[in-house]
Amino acid sequence: MAKIGFIGLGNMGAPMARNLAAAGHEVTGFDTAGTGAEGVGVAATAQDAARGMDFVITMLPNGAILRSVAAEVLPEMAKGATLVDCSTVDVESARAVAEDAAARDVGFVDAPVSGGIGGAAAGTLTFMAGGSAEAFARAAPLFEIMGQKSVHCGDAGAGQAAKICNNMILGITMIGTCEAFALADKLGLDRQKMFDVVSTSSGYSWSMNAYCPAPGVGPQSPADNEYKPGFAAELMLKDLGLSQQAAEAADVDTPMGALARALYAQFVENEDGRGKDFSAMLPRLAARGRES
Ligand code: NAD
Repeated sequence: MAKIGFIGLGNMGAPMARNLAAAGHEVTGFDTAGTGAEGVGVAATAQDAARGMDFVITMLPNGAILRSVAAEVLPEMAKGATLVDCSTVDVESARAVAEDAAARDVGFVDAPVSGGIGGAAAGTLTFMAGGSAEAFARAAPLFEIMGQKSVHCGDAGAGQAAKICNNMILGITMIGTCEAFALADKLGLDRQKMFDVVSTSSGYSWSMNAYCPAPGVGPQSPADNEYKPGFAAELMLKDLGLSQQAAEAADVDTPMGALARALYAQFVENEDGRGKDFSAMLPRLAARGRES
């Protein structure tokens, strides 16, 4: 059984740390907000949560916070220990922390997740990982406890790259699906019929088939629960921002990703989208005409 420091016990981190403890690992947690998790010991500082640990896992809001936490904990970690960052952050921050870790002979894996709060609680997350084969192999048994699938995507940063590419597709297809429902409404096409056709035709996607944004249509989704998240619109905005940041840095033309980001920014910052599921783009679009 491993000694694990877990830093960032928020909506995602707390249930992930709890699952590691329930599997028999010795887990010590730290969060600046003073949160804890069942079966997880409490450290007074991030350094205390890192010292003498085989693994330190971080689950933090963004890349700037990851960099500052890594600067605190890496000097405390033993050579041969492994830092596993499960946050969604920019590719550059993941690569910078990987370099700092390598300089101290500490392993590093960037391993952002998909599956949301439900997946974190149930231990069914998907991990997309970047880092050396050795570091990934060391962390893989922990991914098996916290999730149901892990993919080693390549060198450091590759996990974050996979995450933001996936979520750029997700944001774009969700908006496209919502636009099509709004158009179908105005054309007098029943939403259920629209689902029956599209979900088995070439317009199908995860947004339509697994997470249908229309209430009462398709499988259960946040649309059936008044658009309570789920996956909040502001988290989608964050991920679309990261994909645009990466596209700018790598000089890639991503016009649809840029438009999706702008639309979610408008929804979250100037309308009533904050705190709603990202599929609430449907009532937003359905309530508007072309000029509004
Ligand atoms: P959260 O805000 O609930 O948790 C983040 C935690 O980090 C908070 O408890 C906060 O107090 C703590 N924290 C902040 N600064 C800290 C510091 N310096 N030291 C220690 N702790 C600190 O967020 P979350 O929903 O748990 O998401 C965490 C990460 O997972 C984010 O990067 C997010 O993008 C990603 N993610 C979230 C979801 C989701 O559905 N919530 C899904 C996939 C990925």
